[in-house]
Amino acid sequence: MIPDDIKNRIRDIVGAENALDSDLDRFGYSYDASFVPLFPANKPELVVRPATTDEVSRIMAVACEHGIPVTPRGAATGRTGGSIPLKGGISMSLERMTKILELDVNNMMVWAEAGVRTIDLYNACAARGLFYPPDPASWKFSTIGGNVAENAGGMRAVKYGVTSNYVMGLEVVLADGSVLLTGGKAIKNVTGYNLTSLFTGSEGTLGIITKALLRLIPMPKKRGTLQLMFRTLDDGCNTIHQMLQSGLLPAAAEIMDRFCLEAVAKHRKTEHDPAIGCCIIVEIDGEDDAALEAQARKMEAVARQCGVYRFRVAQSQQESDELWAIRRGLSSAIASLVPNRLGEDISVPRDAFPEVVRRISAIAEKHKLTIAVYGHAGDGNIHPSILCDLSKPGEEERVHRAVEELFDATLAVGGTLSGEHGIGITKRPYIAKALGEAGVKALAAVKQALDPKGILNPGKIW
Ligand SMILES: Cc1cc2nc3c(=O)[nH]c(=O)nc-3n(C[C@H](O)[C@H](O)[C@H](O)COP(=O)(O)OP(=O)(O)OC[C@H]3O[C@@H](n4cnc5c(N)ncnc54)[C@H](O)[C@@H]3O)c2cc1C
Repeated sequence: MIPDDIKNRIRDIVGAENALDSDLDRFGYSYDASFVPLFPANKPELVVRPATTDEVSRIMAVACEHGIPVTPRGAATGRTGGSIPLKGGISMSLERMTKILELDVNNMMVWAEAGVRTIDLYNACAARGLFYPPDPASWKFSTIGGNVAENAGGMRAVKYGVTSNYVMGLEVVLADGSVLLTGGKAIKNVTGYNLTSLFTGSEGTLGIITKALLRLIPMPKKRGTLQLMFRTLDDGCNTIHQMLQSGLLPAAAEIMDRFCLEAVAKHRKTEHDPAIGCCIIVEIDGEDDAALEAQARKMEAVARQCGVYRFRVAQSQQESDELWAIRRGLSSAIASLVPNRLGEDISVPRDAFPEVVRRISAIAEKHKLTIAVYGHAGDGNIHPSILCDLSKPGEEERVHRAVEELFDATLAVGGTLSGEHGIGITKRPYIAKALGEAGVKALAAVKQALDPKGILNPGKIW
C-alpha cells in the first residue's frame, strides 16, 4: 500500500489532477491489448501522469526511497501485458509528454518526447520530406516510448528495419531518479557500452524513457501497392521466398491466410471468394513511376511462376489505402469472431517461413484448434492467432500445449519467441527455452545492476 503522505508528496510533484487513485482511474490503467485476465492486484494504487523529465525523475526518487513498484505506460497497445501493473504500485503514464522537441533537417534526426504518437511523428517528419519508417499496425495510437521499449517493428521492416535501427540516443530516468543521456547525433559512436541498444527493447524494466533521438531518411518519392491472391498459403509463402531470392525487396509484404480473409469479409460485410486461400499485400517504393512499374512487372512474373490466382496493382491512392486498411484492421476483425484469442509473434529466418507455416497448420490439426496465420512475410515475423473459447472444458490445456509446440517448432528452425511484441507476462514461461541458462543469468545481472530494488515493471520478462 502506498501511504497517503507518499501519495501527497507525488501530488505535490505532478499536481492532484495528475495523480489519480479513484477506482475508475485505477481500472482504466490496469490492462493493455494483451487482454491478460486481470486480478485485483494488477490494478495500480496510483496513476501518475508526469509532464516533464524532472517530474519523472522526482517521482522515481520517491518510489526508490520507499520501494514502490513503477510500471511505465504508453498507449497500452502492447500485446504481452507489459504495461499491466502486476504488483500494484504506480502506473507511470507518459501520455502528457507529447512534444516533438527538435526536427533537425540537416542531420535528418528528430528529438521526441516519449508520449508522442507514432503516426504524429511520421506526419511531422513527412511534412519536411523526411521518413520515419517503423510503422507498427497500431501506429495511430502507440507511442514512441512504447515503440522504443518494445523495439517495435511494422509493415516496412522487411526493407527498412525496426525501431532499434533508428534510435540514435535516449534520455532515460533510472530507477533511483537519476537522468541518463545515451548516444547522440554523431553517426559513429563507440564510446563505452551501447546503452542505447540496451534500453531499446527493455520493456520498461530498466528505466523510464522520457525522450528519444531518432534517425530519419529521405521520403521515397513514389509508392505503389500490389495485391496478390493465391489458392493456398503454401503458394503465397513460396512466392515471397522466390521474390526475395531473386533480389526483389518490397517495402512491405504482408500475408493473410484463408481464415483472416474470411474474418475481414465478415467484419466489412463483403463476400469472400472461397477459391482464395491466401492474400499478400505488397508495398513497393522508388524514385519514379518507371521504377515502380519495373518492380511490379518483375513481381508479377515471379508470382505467376508460383501460381498466383489474381494479381492487382492499386490504381489510385484510395485503392491503396483501402488495401492497407484491410491489413491494419485485421487484428480487430479476427478478435471480434471468438471469445478468446492468443496472438503470438514468432520470428524465423526468412528461408524457414514456409516450413514454419506448415508446422503451424500441423499443430492446429493435431490439437483441433483454429490458428489464423498472418504477419510480416517479408521478414519472417508471423502472428499465429489461436482462436478459442477458454470457458470450454479442456480448451485452455489444449491451447497451452499448442503454444508450447509452436515455440518448439520456431526454435527448431532457428527462430525466436518474439519478433516485435516482447516477452512481457505472456511469454515469460518460455524465455529460458530460447535464451538458455547463461542467457537468462546475463539478463538478470543487467537488471540487478540498473534496478537493484526491482521496482521497475516487476514481474515482466522473468
Ligand atoms: C492492433 C494492434 C496492432 C499491432 N501491430 C504491431 C506491429 O505491427 N508491430 C509491433 O511491433 N507491434 C504491434 N503491436 C503492439 C504494440 O502496439 C507495440 O508493442 C507498441 O510499441 C506499444 O506501444 P505503446 O505506446 O502502446 O506501449 P505500451 O503498451 O503502453 O507499453 C509497452 C511496453 O513498453 C513499456 N513502456 C511504455 N512506455 C515506456 C517508456 N516511456 N519508458 C519505458 N518503458 C515504456 C511498458 O512498460 C510496456 O512494457 C500492435 C498492437 C495492436 C493492438
